[in-house]
Amino acid sequence: MSLFPIFVKLEGRPVLLVGAGPVGESKIGGLLSSGAVVTVVAPEATAAIRQLAECGTISWHQREFDPNDLDGITLVVAAVPRVVARLLYEEARSRGVLVNSVDDPDNCDFYYPAVVNRGDLQIAISTGGHSPALAQRIRIELEQQFGPEYAQWVQQLGGVRRDLFAAEMDPELRKQTLHDMAREKPGMVYLVGAGPGDPELLTLKALRILGQADVVLHDDLLTPEILELIPSTARIESVGKRHNDRQVTQQEINRRLCESAAAGHTVVRLKGGDGAIFGRASEEMNALRAAGISFAIVPGITAASGAAAAAGVSLTDRRTGSALVFLTAQRCKGNPPPNWKAIAELGGTTAIYMPGGHEDDLARQLLEAGVAAETSCFVVAGASRSDERVIETTLGQLPGLQKLPAPAILLIGTVRDIRVHASATGPIARIKAQDH
Ligand code: SAH
Repeated sequence: MSLFPIFVKLEGRPVLLVGAGPVGESKIGGLLSSGAVVTVVAPEATAAIRQLAECGTISWHQREFDPNDLDGITLVVAAVPRVVARLLYEEARSRGVLVNSVDDPDNCDFYYPAVVNRGDLQIAISTGGHSPALAQRIRIELEQQFGPEYAQWVQQLGGVRRDLFAAEMDPELRKQTLHDMAREKPGMVYLVGAGPGDPELLTLKALRILGQADVVLHDDLLTPEILELIPSTARIESVGKRHNDRQVTQQEINRRLCESAAAGHTVVRLKGGDGAIFGRASEEMNALRAAGISFAIVPGITAASGAAAAAGVSLTDRRTGSALVFLTAQRCKGNPPPNWKAIAELGGTTAIYMPGGHEDDLARQLLEAGVAAETSCFVVAGASRSDERVIETTLGQLPGLQKLPAPAILLIGTVRDIRVHASATGPIARIKAQDH
C-alpha cells in the first residue's frame, strides 16, 4: 500500500510528544516552527525541554503516559521504548489519532520525510520507511540543486501570482505568464566574507555557497588555498583594486555583478575578512538594489579577529576598557579625519586596517591625543595565513619599526598580561613567523 503524501497545517493544533530524551527533543523544533501547540508527557526531560517548558513555549507533564493524554490531540509523536509505543499506538488508533513512533515503523501511521527546506518551498522525500539513508542522500543532492535562493524566488512568484489574480486578465494569458516565470530562475548575488586567509576560517555557509557558484568575483586578499575550493565549473574573476595591472573600478565590479545575476547566474562576491567591514559592501548593495537583483550577505571573520588570534590576545578586556574601535587609515576624499581625542578617551582596543605607510602618522596622532606611549601595539601581517607574522611593540616604538608586508593590521591597546602591561617601559619586540 502506498503512502498518501500531504503537507499538514499544524498551526494552533495540539500535538502530543511522549518521551523527552534527546530523540524526543529533536522532534520539537519542527513541530514548533509549524505552529503546533506542543504538550510533552515524560517522567524525565532533557535540559532543553525543561527550559522550553519553563518559558511556556511547550507544556510538560512530568509523569508516565496516560491514554487520556490523547483526548483532543491531532498528532502524536512517540520517542519511547517499543513496548510503550505499542500500547500508545493501539490507544491512538482506537481514537483516530495519527502516530509517529521514532525509528519504529510498525507503530507508525505517518513517517517524517527527509526535507529540503527553502522557505515556503519544501521538498519532502520518502522511501516508505525502507531506507532513511537513501532519503538523506537524495535530500543532500536536492539541496545542491535547489539552493537557498529558491526561498526568495518562491516568495516573489507568490507575490506576482497574487497580483495577476487580483488584476482583470485573460486566464489563459495568466497561466502562460505564471509558467513562463517559473521556468527561468533569476540570478542571485551572495556577498560572502572569506575570513582572513586560512581556508578553515571560512564559514560552512560560505563553503556551501561557493560550491554552488557559477561566477566568483574576488578581491586580492583571497589566498590560493581558498580559491582552490571554488568548483572548476565556476568562472573566476579577480577584481582586486590593488596590485592589478589593469585596475577594475568599483563601478565596473557593480556592473559585472548585476550583469551576471541578470543572466540567471549564482554570483559570489568573495571578499577577505568580513565584506561589511571596509569592504565597500554598501556600494555593491546599492547597485544590486537599484537593479532589482536579489542578494544575501554571508558574514566572515574580520582581519582584527584573525590578528588577535595570531597575537594571542583578546580584542576586549573588561578590566582595561570597554570599547573596540575598527578604524581605517584610508578614507574617501572629503571625509573628515577620525576624532583621535574621542578614540583616546574611549580606551580599550583600536584595530587599524590598511595602515600601510601611515604607521608613523597614526602613532603620532594617537600620542598627541593622549594615548600613553607604553600602550601595547601589535603589528600583524598575513594573520592566519602561511606567512603570518606578528610584531609586539608599544605605541611609542611603532614609528621606528620595520614595516611588514601587506596585508597588515595594527592592534593598539590589547593587553596580554595586565601586570606586565602596567609596568612595561620599553618595547617587547618579538617577531614570530608561524609554521602551519
Ligand atoms: N573586509 C576586510 C578588510 C578589508 S580592508 C576584513 O574584514 O578583514 C584590507 C585590510 O584588511 C588590509 O589592509 C589589512 O589591514 C587588513 N587585513 C585583511 N586580511 C588580513 C590578514 N590576513 N592579516 C592582517 N591584516 C589583514
